[in-house]
Amino acid sequence: MMTATEIRQSFLDFFREKQHTVVPSASLMPQSPGLLFTNAGMNQFVPYFLGVWTPPWKPARATDTQKCIRAGGKHNDLEDVGYDSYHHTFFEMLGNWSFGDYFKKEAIHWAWELVVERWGFPAERLYATVYAPDKSKGDPGEFDQEAWNYWAELFRSHGLDPDVHIVHGNVKDNFWMMGETGPCGPCSELHVDLTPNGDTHGRLVNKDSDLCIEIWNLVFIQYNAESDGSMRNLPACHVDTGMGFERACSIMQCTDGFKDFSRKPSNYATDVFRPLFDRLEALSGRKYTDVYPAPGSKLVAAGDDVLQEAIAFRVIADHLRTLSFSIADGILPGNNGRNYVLRRILRRAVRYGRRLGFSQPFLAQLVDTLMASFGQVFPELASRADTVKEVLTREEASFNETLDRGLELFDAETASAGKVTGEFAFKLYDTYGFPVDLTALLAEERGLDIDMERFNRLMEEQRDRARAARKSEVVRALDLKTDAVTDFTGYDVDECAATVLEVSRQ
Ligand code: ATP
Ligand code: MG
Ligand code: MG
Ligand code: MG
Repeated sequence: MMTATEIRQSFLDFFREKQHTVVPSASLMPQSPGLLFTNAGMNQFVPYFLGVWTPPWKPARATDTQKCIRAGGKHNDLEDVGYDSYHHTFFEMLGNWSFGDYFKKEAIHWAWELVVERWGFPAERLYATVYAPDKSKGDPGEFDQEAWNYWAELFRSHGLDPDVHIVHGNVKDNFWMMGETGPCGPCSELHVDLTPNGDTHGRLVNKDSDLCIEIWNLVFIQYNAESDGSMRNLPACHVDTGMGFERACSIMQCTDGFKDFSRKPSNYATDVFRPLFDRLEALSGRKYTDVYPAPGSKLVAAGDDVLQEAIAFRVIADHLRTLSFSIADGILPGNNGRNYVLRRILRRAVRYGRRLGFSQPFLAQLVDTLMASFGQVFPELASRADTVKEVLTREEASFNETLDRGLELFDAETASAGKVTGEFAFKLYDTYGFPVDLTALLAEERGLDIDMERFNRLMEEQRDRARAARKSEVVRALDLKTDAVTDFTGYDVDECAATVLEVSRQ
């Protein structure tokens, strides 16, 4: 059975054999405007797809593993983390690219060759999806007959019925877009039936079930989504694929190399997460137990201690990865935009830490474990480990000061009110630093309603007041050369001063 490190290497080696150049992951700080974080392997290649840059690789092919974060923005998986076994905020996306070189035929044949012939996935458990636009809803483009034909040939070669193993999907699942704008196109995906008997006949494809998960998306980039909503044909056609690395590990490792499907695979039951759980167990004295929802439903944490602890383990490990890799790429927790997304993630992790009995900063003690697994693949993590630890500890310490008081208040207030009012959620936000999604989570765990509408109105009012009072905005940045954390005031809006004013250096 392959380890995670071997699986990653095997993917890259396979495409190296197919004349792809192995390139490094891009930073989590996106190069494309309009993204909070790098959210897919293709982000760094946008200028090649648009024809703005000429690919330096001969042939024009590349392969890599890309660090991705899906929290906030068009692709937001934050709410699923911990509750299912295959969505993370941070994950690695393995990919292969063709820049105007090969197209659908090779992309599909190689995907099959790697997954079925090299890795040994049972063909009868695979389901491919192809793009079938719903014209009544105005979906762009045409039915992808070409992709259908290639998949059909492959399934038939294994004695399988293409009409069962190829599933049609409309724009929602089979047309990939990075964000509102940018290169995009129809896609074709591989899904794996993970039920013990493998007898769902494709019924669970794209149904949010952990018994049938999507592992690989092959995108056929042909258009650019323009800001006016139209689709412009690109000068050439490209291939952009993304395989969920942790999902591939989960399926291979949890089935003992496809021998045993009696146990449900989970990304958390792999050597990607196990070392972090071992460390968390040692630090907390608690045990991680794998948990699964009943078929067709989500986990509901309310009132179940084992479940709550399992979810806490998962969320902490997930968030620790997101935070560490972000900080190593110079993105710090702060008050605005992507920085606030990180702060929210950190505060969630701290609060879940309470469930495992941590009342002092603890995240930094997991960083060396993470580094031991990933420091070689992502050297920036190894070289910035000290900064990562410092930032985590400082942020945790500052939230710890108000968290317990806020939690006490939450229990007292909701015991009498029986719900979370907008005013109270706002008070927790404003005085105790509770991001509203954290308050919402506490409410959900106790089965309480939360008045988000009123909260949002209060936030809007506060923003208006702040806008009137503020002349400049503070932006946190990490200087990647010196490791210094700096707060800058942004451009002075009133005076239109084009200089960035440095206000403090920590
Ligand atoms: P899903 O439908 O499972 O949410 P997706 O269609 O949003 O996945 P893509 O945008 O097609 O995902 O990304 C390519 C691949 O990356 C997916 O096939 C999947 O294997 C993996 N992936 C996507 N989101 C996540 C995530 N949050 N955590 C781990 N892996 C992911
Ligand atoms: Mg998704
Ligand atoms: Mg999908
Ligand atoms: Mg997909």
